Amino acid sequence: MLASRRILKSFSVLLAAPAALMLARAAAGASTEVEAVYPKAYALYLDLHQHPELSGAETQTAAKLAGELRALGYTVTEHVGGTGVVALLKNGSGRTVMLRTELDALPVEEKTGLPFASKVHAKDPAGRDVPVGHMCGHDLHMSALVATATIMARRRDSWRGTLMLVGQPAEETITGAKAMIGDGLFTRFPKPDEVLALHVGSVEPASEVGVVPGIYDSNADSIRVTLFGKGGHGSAPHTTVDPIVLAARTILALQTIVAREVKPGEFAVVTVGYVNAGTKNNIIPDQAEMGLTVRTYKAEVRKQVLAAITRIVNAEAEAAGAPRAPSIERYETTDAVYNDPALAQRLRAVLETALGKEHVVTAEPITASEDFSAFVQQGIPGFYLSLGGADPRKLAQAKAAGTVLPSNHSPLFAPDVDPALHTAIAAEVAMLRELLRPVAQP
Ligand SMILES: [Zn+2]
Ligand SMILES: [Zn+2]
Repeated sequence: MLASRRILKSFSVLLAAPAALMLARAAAGASTEVEAVYPKAYALYLDLHQHPELSGAETQTAAKLAGELRALGYTVTEHVGGTGVVALLKNGSGRTVMLRTELDALPVEEKTGLPFASKVHAKDPAGRDVPVGHMCGHDLHMSALVATATIMARRRDSWRGTLMLVGQPAEETITGAKAMIGDGLFTRFPKPDEVLALHVGSVEPASEVGVVPGIYDSNADSIRVTLFGKGGHGSAPHTTVDPIVLAARTILALQTIVAREVKPGEFAVVTVGYVNAGTKNNIIPDQAEMGLTVRTYKAEVRKQVLAAITRIVNAEAEAAGAPRAPSIERYETTDAVYNDPALAQRLRAVLETALGKEHVVTAEPITASEDFSAFVQQGIPGFYLSLGGADPRKLAQAKAAGTVLPSNHSPLFAPDVDPALHTAIAAEVAMLRELLRPVAQP
């Protein structure tokens, strides 16, 4: 990939600039039909990037997406599961395939320094003023989906069946997919035969895609623990049960779950992301709260880790002589995304043809989580593609220096849009055409 880029660069001094550009794009797997929709897709990307909206509040974003798809001739329904958008294009009899994009951005201040960086602020659900930025790349996913929708609408001769495009709200709070399903996504609209999605990241170079057969990402469980003690004066600990010391002991004991209980080689993460207790140095508070995130791949490991957390939290409280058993609340949970192995194999071949074999790699499961699994759990085979988004030159420099590029959710996350967006469109069109291939009539 890098070598071919260097060769292309030396060519470009001999060729007229547009010809060199065309050659470079051909190498990235882009075709004429992708080139035709790219300028509009890039303009939409810039627009969405500069107008990010928080999870569940994606009203302008959803309206924009709905407007674009309606103008292309899709039958569009808005407000499905909140701000969700469903767009259908029926093109004769055949299978139904769903392609999903997320709509939401994050409460992160963009610090990329890009000329089109977000300057948006909004009120979060708690009423606080927060910066908002598309620091997960969902703006790129939406732009790709609209461009793909354009090609599929223009070239109806190349496929048969029903194309179902879904703009899903609130992915970052892992609540949007369930909300759309609860609002009749697969009963008011056709239930698809396959569900597809992709996600841009900074691990693989732009113009490359990664295929992960089987488990793609992790089960996620958020846990809120409230430890109860007995408050009192900081000078008289003997009259209290100190919940801060209890929290400290509990946090250390929780570290032994992955280190001592989970079988070595199995994936599990237990992170205590926050601890809140106390107001003043000379007061022992009467309770402490901590928030955990738990990530696992396998269902049995998940069960083991969650049970160990409950056991340790309760036992530490008892050991401390706590007046009340702790409260352990599980919220914002999602299952790992599972890529149907047969579907992944079939689509890999298609991607290799569309993008070039050298641009399709086998990728490792990631430790993050995603609520795309909610669609798969409805009994629908799913495929979630990893889209390379790193500037190849910066990625090579980072690797040489033994560092990593800013990841999704970082204030510095900046995908290399030109190749990544081209690749996303080419990949989506190729996958949809394969799954909606016209069946020859006997
Ligand atoms: Zn994200
Ligand atoms: Zn994301």
